[in-house]
Amino acid sequence: MNTARRQPSKRPRTQRASAAASATPPRLGRILSIGDELVLGRCVDTNAAHIARWMTDHGLRVDGVSQVGDAQHEIVAALARVSQGASLVVVSGGLGPTEDDRTRHALAAAMGVELVHDEASWRDIQAYFTRAGVTRVPEVNRRQALLPRSAAIITNREGTAPGILARLGEAYVVCTPGVPHEMVAMLGQVSQRLPRLLPGLTPPVISELWCSGLGESTAQELIPGLLTERHPMVGITVSEAGHLTLRVVGTSTEVARRTRALTRALKRYLLPQAGLAMSLVAELARRRMTIATAESCTCGQVMAALGAVSGVSRVLQEGLLTYSESAKRRHLGVPPDLIAEHGVVSEAVALAMASGMRTCSQSQADLCVATTGVAGPLGGTSANPVGTVWVAVADAQGAVARRHHIRGDRARVQRRGAAYALQLAWERLQGSQARR
Ligand code: ATP
Ligand code: MG
Repeated sequence: MNTARRQPSKRPRTQRASAAASATPPRLGRILSIGDELVLGRCVDTNAAHIARWMTDHGLRVDGVSQVGDAQHEIVAALARVSQGASLVVVSGGLGPTEDDRTRHALAAAMGVELVHDEASWRDIQAYFTRAGVTRVPEVNRRQALLPRSAAIITNREGTAPGILARLGEAYVVCTPGVPHEMVAMLGQVSQRLPRLLPGLTPPVISELWCSGLGESTAQELIPGLLTERHPMVGITVSEAGHLTLRVVGTSTEVARRTRALTRALKRYLLPQAGLAMSLVAELARRRMTIATAESCTCGQVMAALGAVSGVSRVLQEGLLTYSESAKRRHLGVPPDLIAEHGVVSEAVALAMASGMRTCSQSQADLCVATTGVAGPLGGTSANPVGTVWVAVADAQGAVARRHHIRGDRARVQRRGAAYALQLAWERLQGSQARR
């Protein structure tokens, strides 16, 4: 099964409901992330990504993500702007107790109402501190019990700052703390209220296909015209872990039709699971096969990718990190003459490492994966510039190797090198032509 569906609502969805949803204009969701650290580029706005996904999954069309610093007048202007024409605005950040936390003040100003003390919120804040074993609640935390008149609170079970639910023009505005896990927990509560706030929201059907062994350009050539479609929306994301994700969002009929077309066009590249490591582990488990790794330049990243898959213990045997030449010799039996003749970053050594993992280290694994390369930034030569990575796979039938040249810094060379090793293992398993 190459598709995944996310439907937050348990309500059974009918074809009719989906068709009606596509006929009515979409309800717009907007996101406003607040904080100097964001606009200074010192903090990655992961909240916006979570909120966008949450909105999409609930049936809102996100048509804008904004960031603004901590200056109150800028937040007021941003709130006025993003609430225009939106059904729901989710704001994160600036609800803390310190003077630079201005979200509640800015919201009250944008609404044209005053801030009032909310006794229930103050009791919640005090209770939070008591649970944490703090006897004297800092006076500054009183600020967090301030609420724009006519707004409602959203309880914060994970921290002190209550969230705020308010109306700004036609839009509902939800303010959550910036701390990611507090924001996530609070949106969980808003999910319960959403059907009453915005009745008739229809979650879209979302299907995902995962492919490997091709780049974005090849994918584009195989599916001309499909990426610019809006009904359904087809999006493509490239992962450094070695796969492409194609996401189809729309009504059930549209999504089913488009997913069939994409599946036909991309058949030979499709992965059964969300990514190479997951697919490899699932396929090895299905065939009752095991895997082992012998890594050099990737420094354990092949192992880490496999190890991140739940249930990997069924297939993962062991891994060796043989960084130095002597380690390659001692643990994998790579002959010194071979290294002297070809260099440590070479097809011959990559093949010897993968095969040596099977024979010399006496691994019982069915599939052995090896990497050797120049992660940089030092150590490049004209024959093997920085970014050269050889990956190899050995099994009972023999061994294959492939050379890659990866651009970017050391971390990227290692990440992509590991992904290429998994790709070769996947191809080997599929019995496809592994040598290029
Ligand atoms: P508090 O000040 O009480 O921690 P707050 O609501 O004022 O809560 P912020 O001060 O804006 O929240 O952010 C707190 C921390 O949460 C930040 O230092 C940052 O680490 C993280 N954070 C804030 N906004 C985001 C965001 N958009 N994406 C990811 N992390 C964020
Ligand atoms: Mg703060």
